[in-house]
Amino acid sequence: MSGGMELLERVRAHSAALGEKPALAAGAERLSWRALWPGVVSLAAVLREQGSGPVAVEGVRGTWPPAAFLACLVAGRPYLPLDPEWPAARREEILRRTGAQKLSRAEAEAGFYARRTCEIAGGAGIAYLLFTSGSTGAPKEVAVSRANLDHFLRWAGGLEGVPEAAGETVVGQAAYSFDLSVADLYLSLFWGGTHVNLTGAELADPAALFDRLERSGAALLVATPSFLRLCLREGRFAPGRLSRLRTVFSCGEDLPAPTAARLLERFPGATLLNAYGPTEATCAVCAAPITREMCTGPLPMGVLGAGAVEITLEDGEIVLRGESVAPAYGGTYRTGDLGRVEKGLLYWRGRLDDQVKYRGYRVEPAEVAAALETIRGVERAAVLPRRDGAGQVRGLTAFLEGRDLPAGPELARLARLRLPGYLCPDQWRRLERMPLTANGKCDRTRLKEMLR
Ligand code: AMP
Repeated sequence: MSGGMELLERVRAHSAALGEKPALAAGAERLSWRALWPGVVSLAAVLREQGSGPVAVEGVRGTWPPAAFLACLVAGRPYLPLDPEWPAARREEILRRTGAQKLSRAEAEAGFYARRTCEIAGGAGIAYLLFTSGSTGAPKEVAVSRANLDHFLRWAGGLEGVPEAAGETVVGQAAYSFDLSVADLYLSLFWGGTHVNLTGAELADPAALFDRLERSGAALLVATPSFLRLCLREGRFAPGRLSRLRTVFSCGEDLPAPTAARLLERFPGATLLNAYGPTEATCAVCAAPITREMCTGPLPMGVLGAGAVEITLEDGEIVLRGESVAPAYGGTYRTGDLGRVEKGLLYWRGRLDDQVKYRGYRVEPAEVAAALETIRGVERAAVLPRRDGAGQVRGLTAFLEGRDLPAGPELARLARLRLPGYLCPDQWRRLERMPLTANGKCDRTRLKEMLR
């Protein structure tokens, strides 16, 4: 499409039609549909004057970052959500690598209310840059195109239970620096809903969380299984308080059958989707509706032939080909996930490499180890996940070799200066000597035995 993006055309039309209905909400903040588009094009005009490269939006929660993202899309500049809570060194490294211009809340708001106007940028181009954990020891940049995003939205809008609920109220758990948020934010904007981004305070306090879920009238909840498990611990997570909840879009990690069973028991009328996909292929590429009868064993995460892309198994690995795959991969993305197909349904069988999900976050142990090796006194580091009986990751253990290792609390402090909280180990083990394999690599099998 020459106008650029179906998403933006729809946002413009909703803004003209939906008046005072909130488009974006977070905490006490509200932004109406009526106000959204004029503000977005005004900020876009300012951004277009300032350059053409990426824009680092310095915020990952609240109502202003999404308004800034839309302005970047209108201006034709890639945006990059920059988490203020990441260590300064990580933020600086990302800014240096991308050459991005920083956009603060004050600057965004000044542009939003400047009453300027701007045509929607044409062309393909990059929509956003996200940074995920990288196996090479540094954060991995993923550049998703405008076409990728439109394609994802068209596909996800065809999923059972999604469009109706997305036009009401969508609650998103993830910060905008994670690609799970692409589902809640943009499905809501695409379908003219109200997008509710949970605040840090709401995520930290179940009473505040359930108040928000109840008061917002959440119809579609987008969350990781880890988050759903936390919600299910609370009796308040039930239709009595969440009377409008009808679709749960679970994505980002393996959905255990007991979690799904409990959710469907609590919300018998709800549609539960187990969606699968990596950031590199735009949020999710397939999904399977889960019924209570399925909850006796591993759950499917996709229906072959109904995904956003072509999905094949090559030597057991899930390989994705098609319009959702970020441009850097030339149309084919090898996921590193092992899959299995049974009766046309796709199941997850683990990873080919060391990548894990911990509390819903992607963790590359090699990135954590590389960051730890920059600490003075650490000569060699290896990081392993600790798992419970059900295979869930319960923590990260760092094994360190070095003559002058700092003390445990100091190690934790130095790690936090280098890594976001979710990548920091919570257990430290000192080794006289790192066990090595015959070819001199760290012997992870030996280390795994030492975890027990
Ligand atoms: P991320 O890009 O951080 O969302 O991580 C993508 C990875 O999360 C995938 O490659 C899988 O390993 C895992 N993942 C995502 N969704 C699912 C799912 N429904 N079931 C099992 N694993 C999943």
